[in-house]
Amino acid sequence: MDNKERGLNYSITVLPGDGIGPDVTAEAVRSLEAVGRSFGHSFDLSHGLVGGIAIDQLGTPLPQETVAMCESTDAILFGAVGGPKWDDPGATVRPEDGILALRKSLGLFANLRPVRVFPAVMDSSPVKRQLLEGVDMIVVRELTGGLYFARPKRRWQTSRGRRGVDTLRYTEQEIERILRVGFELARGRRRRLTSVDKANVLETGRLWRELAVEVSRDYSDVELEHILVDNAAMQLIRNPAHFDVVVAENMFGDILTDEAAVLSGSMGMLPSASLSGLPETGRAIGLYEPIHGTAPDIAGKGIANPIGAILSAALLLRYSLGLEDEANAIERSVEGALAEGYRTGDIAGQGEDVVGTAEMGAVIAGRV
Ligand code: NAD
Repeated sequence: MDNKERGLNYSITVLPGDGIGPDVTAEAVRSLEAVGRSFGHSFDLSHGLVGGIAIDQLGTPLPQETVAMCESTDAILFGAVGGPKWDDPGATVRPEDGILALRKSLGLFANLRPVRVFPAVMDSSPVKRQLLEGVDMIVVRELTGGLYFARPKRRWQTSRGRRGVDTLRYTEQEIERILRVGFELARGRRRRLTSVDKANVLETGRLWRELAVEVSRDYSDVELEHILVDNAAMQLIRNPAHFDVVVAENMFGDILTDEAAVLSGSMGMLPSASLSGLPETGRAIGLYEPIHGTAPDIAGKGIANPIGAILSAALLLRYSLGLEDEANAIERSVEGALAEGYRTGDIAGQGEDVVGTAEMGAVIAGRV
């Protein structure tokens, strides 16, 4: 069958945001367009405003038009938001509120961060090469509950000084659904699920562990192991190749995924997917973004690494559109470009030639 005959139409909302967001997102779009040409799909791309640029133009980090676009699309490709221009502590609106509100309103409770170390750039990581061989894990972070959202959350003055409180609360349903995402993913991989908690100290940790055991009865083909979060932080560096799928609550996942990013050599390398569940039918709404922020120190210079954004486009094809071959094509292109020696500044070794954002994006898209 001709590729064109197989081709399908998809709508994708593109929210580039601030700083290096627009530069790296443009390269992700370039790879998507290359996939469209090679596989005969048509991607209908609509660009929307979010973050600081939306505050500047419309006075809000998440305009209603952007929410409406996101609600009626197959998937969202997101850049990054924020920057010094909007950092005034007295400001009533902040760019980051835009992404938090979007995750909440679309019910994107599962944040998937695959961590792979490409052999060609292993030496960019501060971790020894022998520990990095075979590293291939997905960290699944709970994204809409726990310490970052629960109330009470406040600071106040007392006669004996200032006090502050945050609340760590989880419901059984919130924990169970994120554990199931972890088990389902493990089933399609090496069948090991590492559940992270702090069951020795926290009640939510004990509930988490109890539910992990209960849910595991539906997944007898997956090996479940429990690990305390402090030990997990150590093992991620001591023995990273051990991990297959790692599942953690919001704050633990936040911290462990930044630590895991070190393995890949640069913040610019890693993609992420935020989903409202795993796509049983091969299609689910999701938001895809590199794990890095707006990198104000290099914004506007054309030197940002676009690979995290491009790999996010691959996750979009896989999880929201069910296009596995197309996702693999992008991932192979990234690997090929790195193997051929193309490097942006953040992953270049001493004396290696460096390319800019657009050239790296063009080389990768050209290989799709
Ligand atoms: P950052 O990720 O933007 O930058 C950290 C360091 O990594 C910087 O030195 C930067 O130059 C480098 N870096 C990041 N991405 C890179 C890339 N693609 N290529 C090469 N180098 C790269 O983190 P930060 O400096 O803590 O935050 C800057 C701004 O981004 C803040 O306003 C923060 O709130 C925002 N932020 C937004 C998101 C998001 O939109 N999801 C996430 C994190 C941070």
